[in-house]
Amino acid sequence: MRKEVAIGIDIGGTNTVIGVVDKNGEILAEATTPTLTNTDIKNYLDALTSKINETVFEIKEDIEVKGIGIGAPSSNYYTGEIVGASNLGWGEVVPFVKLLREYYDYPAIVLTNDANSAAVGEMMYGGAKGMNDFLMLTLGTGVGSGVVANGKLVLGHDGFAGELGHVITDSDGRECGCGRNGCLETYASATGICRTVSELIASTKIPSSLRDVPAGNFTSKMVFDAAEKSDELALMAFELTGKMLGKAISDFVAFSSPEAVFLFGGLALAGDYIFKPTKKYMEENMCFLYANKVKLLPSELDGAKIAVLGASAVVWSELN
Ligand SMILES: [Zn+2]
Repeated sequence: MRKEVAIGIDIGGTNTVIGVVDKNGEILAEATTPTLTNTDIKNYLDALTSKINETVFEIKEDIEVKGIGIGAPSSNYYTGEIVGASNLGWGEVVPFVKLLREYYDYPAIVLTNDANSAAVGEMMYGGAKGMNDFLMLTLGTGVGSGVVANGKLVLGHDGFAGELGHVITDSDGRECGCGRNGCLETYASATGICRTVSELIASTKIPSSLRDVPAGNFTSKMVFDAAEKSDELALMAFELTGKMLGKAISDFVAFSSPEAVFLFGGLALAGDYIFKPTKKYMEENMCFLYANKVKLLPSELDGAKIAVLGASAVVWSELN
């Protein structure tokens, strides 16, 4: 019998990763191609599709491609458009799905943002298997989120639901890239914790190895490494980050009463340093209706593969 597969594509600012994935989440073939930015989108699509064809061709098993799922920033699931992704330089509105349909006629060609596809990937292949209600928070450069309620991804009327990274947690707080102040992602992201470290260095006298790092050169990995050496300032930065995140999660929970909240992304790799304070402040601020009911869990998917797995999973959910 022919094996049904879906192609998952993750469009990053530098590279595009392609994976051919079966229904069990096994990646049969993988490839990477440069994301050709600031060019006519047709040039990029020509290069991308020839790489896809090459990758599919290399698979020795008898396969049937059922669709392509694409994860990209600022994408709209309903319209299949990438909107306002200035870093890609393909124009303000890119009808990505329509353009890709000129190359393929698979039953499903779907576009979604990376946090949504991570949520679908977690539901299909990871720790959220069998869960109908959960939240996925991606703590990377920014904070992304995917909301699954009643077994379905919440998309909103225009496809932009679940931007929990831009929920304001402190109205007098830090400036955010969205033009407002105090959004969650200015605190609970890899860049957010670095800002917290800079503030602690300026406002306290706590000794820390991070004081030797030139201003602005921190990475969240450095903060983690310092915490591993019991650096007091680094531990405090995690505590403060977990406080902002935990309080925000206690509010998010009231919206859809999820069974679990999954954390994924660079900052989530810090393990207990981020999970312990987040859980503590989440429960401290939780309305009694939800107290001690909501699990806070790390994603079970391989961080390097989640984007491609998630994008491919969206194909199956589209076809179901
Ligand atoms: Zn914002």
